[in-house]
Amino acid sequence: MNLINQRKKIVRYTKKLNSTNLSSLRSGNISIRAKNKGINGFFITPSGINYSSLKPKDIIFVSLKGQFNKKKGKPSSEWRFHQDIYVNKKDAKAIVHTHSTCATAVSSHQKPIPAFHYMVGIAGGNDIKCAKYATFGTRNLSKNILSALKDRSACLISNHGQIVFGKNLETTFELAQEVENICHQYINALRIGIPKILSKREMKIVLGKMKNYKKG
Ligand SMILES: [Zn+2]
Repeated sequence: MNLINQRKKIVRYTKKLNSTNLSSLRSGNISIRAKNKGINGFFITPSGINYSSLKPKDIIFVSLKGQFNKKKGKPSSEWRFHQDIYVNKKDAKAIVHTHSTCATAVSSHQKPIPAFHYMVGIAGGNDIKCAKYATFGTRNLSKNILSALKDRSACLISNHGQIVFGKNLETTFELAQEVENICHQYINALRIGIPKILSKREMKIVLGKMKNYKKG
């Protein structure tokens, strides 16, 4: 995909944040791994621009070393964890981070989501982890997110929201919607008592089926 199309795609999906269950106003950010003038890095949503008026030229390129051209604007204040995920996860081609309502509510409990529903496996394991709290934009937060993303493609972030990555923006965006949906169901399940959790053995079968389904 050429660079202008990558910028356009980020704009399209960022506007979609506002029209789906994922976010409102300016919260949340989206990025795509990219190569610009021979430099490896990523395109990311900017800081301080209302998403409804976002244009392709507003999208900022940040190198994998964390450098960007200040004259072209500022990247999202949360660019650091995007950088750290791209550096550490070779299969990450796109990242969606949101403060979606239900994921944020569940994240405030600072606990993983257990397998109350088999779809929890969509993140890659028996549960969806919750990264430990650290101030937004800090390297500590990146570190906590990376450890919650070990063997997973999605996690909650304590008292903050959710983050997911994937092989392209289409499937990554869908994964974020799915995580939000799972959190919504989990909140409802907790309202009527303590849900029964699927066994590790059952989740192993589920994960195997999900892998084949993705391949097929
Ligand atoms: Zn955030």
